[in-house]
Parts: sequence; C-alpha cells; structure tokens
Amino acid sequence: MCYTSHQINTSYGKIICTIAIYKERKNIMDIRKFSKYYQYALKDKVLPIPCGVDPEHPMLVPRLIIDENNNDIIYLYCLDCNYKLYPGLELYQNIEFILEELEVNEED
Ligand SMILES: [Zn+2]
Repeated sequence: MCYTSHQINTSYGKIICTIAIYKERKNIMDIRKFSKYYQYALKDKVLPIPCGVDPEHPMLVPRLIIDENNNDIIYLYCLDCNYKLYPGLELYQNIEFILEELEVNEED
C-alpha cells in the first residue's frame, strides 16, 4: 500500500511511501520463480543470471533467508565467490515474464 498522493508534499511522507513500496515489493516476490528460472537455466532453456564479479563463475543460485522481523529476503548467490545480488522488482518481473512465455510454449 502506498500513500504517495496524501503525503508527497513532505519529506517525511516520501520516506513513508518509499518504505511502503519496498515492503510491497518484497512481499510480491516469490522464491519459487527464481528457483524455476534457475532450473530452466540448468537445462540451457534461459540465459543464466551471471555473477557480478566474474562472468566466468557458474550462474547465481537463489537463496531465501528470514530476517529478524520475519521478512523473507530473497537473494541470488555465487557459490564461487560469495557474491550476492538482491533482485529488484524489474529483474523479478523479467523472470516472471520469461517463465510465462516458456510455459505457454510448452503447452503447445
Ligand atoms: Zn562469483
């Protein structure tokens, strides 16, 4: 839930809004989508998500941890160098889109 329209005129309101959007984003991400994408990448059906440190490293592995406030934190992890990528909504939506396309094609 975002209260932008009511509180955009104050810096405090903007902060509230940013936090609300952030929580919403975290809640709508589903680790299973990343896992599914990872499985497709293992089968060479999609491009792997590369390591941000060394593109020669194997693709990033999805992980889920629970923080002290019981929030799900999803990140993608490089087994070779411990690089961590915290996916944003844009990456998530791209993955969702690709998975939907693949599933439509598999039904044919
Ligand atoms: Zn790496």
